[in-house]
Amino acid sequence: MAENVDGRVTALRVSQLDAAELDQEVLQLTKTHLNKIFKYHQSSFLTTYDPEINALLKFVLWKFSIHQWDASIGQQILNIRYGGTKGSQTWMSSRQKWLYTLLLIGCPWLRDRSHDLVRLLRIENLEDRIEKYLQWAETTMKVATLVNFLMFLRLGGYLSLVERILGIQSMFPQRQGLRQVSFEFMTRELLWHGFSEFLFFALPLVNIQRVKNTVTRWIFPRQTKQRPLVERSRHHLTSCGVCGEWPVDPQEIGCVHVFCYYCIHSNYKADPGLTCPLCDKNIPDLDSIQPVRLRIQPQS
Ligand SMILES: [Zn+2]
Ligand SMILES: [Zn+2]
Repeated sequence: MAENVDGRVTALRVSQLDAAELDQEVLQLTKTHLNKIFKYHQSSFLTTYDPEINALLKFVLWKFSIHQWDASIGQQILNIRYGGTKGSQTWMSSRQKWLYTLLLIGCPWLRDRSHDLVRLLRIENLEDRIEKYLQWAETTMKVATLVNFLMFLRLGGYLSLVERILGIQSMFPQRQGLRQVSFEFMTRELLWHGFSEFLFFALPLVNIQRVKNTVTRWIFPRQTKQRPLVERSRHHLTSCGVCGEWPVDPQEIGCVHVFCYYCIHSNYKADPGLTCPLCDKNIPDLDSIQPVRLRIQPQS
């Protein structure tokens, strides 16, 4: 971190990269909104004039960020501003701002429209030659951008080629406090993340219904004495032993209690060791679950 003459400090590399990322996000967001507005529009207006729309959006964003505050939207969020490196008192000069627009908005537009512009010239031999030059220029730009980025990673300073050409750097307006990363917090986050990953893996392997039945049986032990079937009272017939509601398609398992077809079958399927939740009568096999038969008691 190099301190300038008037106390400004060059921004951290990570902050500069974050700011660039945020700027991209903002541009994408505005473009998504624009696309939504023209969603039901039949014509291919947006695709035909895509380079112009991109340039226009960038210009609007530039007008309300760099032109006014010497900082892009991403930089404002991270409290960074563009400043001249040669000890100048102002942040960005008016000339630098306009050149910045020209390079950042004009060049990409020219690149996107170059083929159309060359075709407009309608000169046979020149067309191929210009195409070749443009390709060469594009490759050179790509290589220069890569070299610049590698230099940025190694030495810091200029993130983009435009910044290097104009001699502007991202800077903190005031001296920054010491950046302290709380490792305690990070460890907690990592542990919690690991734990939730483990839960996602392990939970499907656990038979929840079986665990629930076992725990319920353990906490509320049932009376194991089985009463004869004739003692089935009115209450036993009108409520399901599992859900407590009026039994739908009533089934019995050999004790005085009745169950809904769905309740008893789904429970037995999930937990073959299921017993009657009310009297602990065990179910030996699937055939023991039978539809309720009415038994007419002789009046005495
Ligand atoms: Zn039920
Ligand atoms: Zn029972």
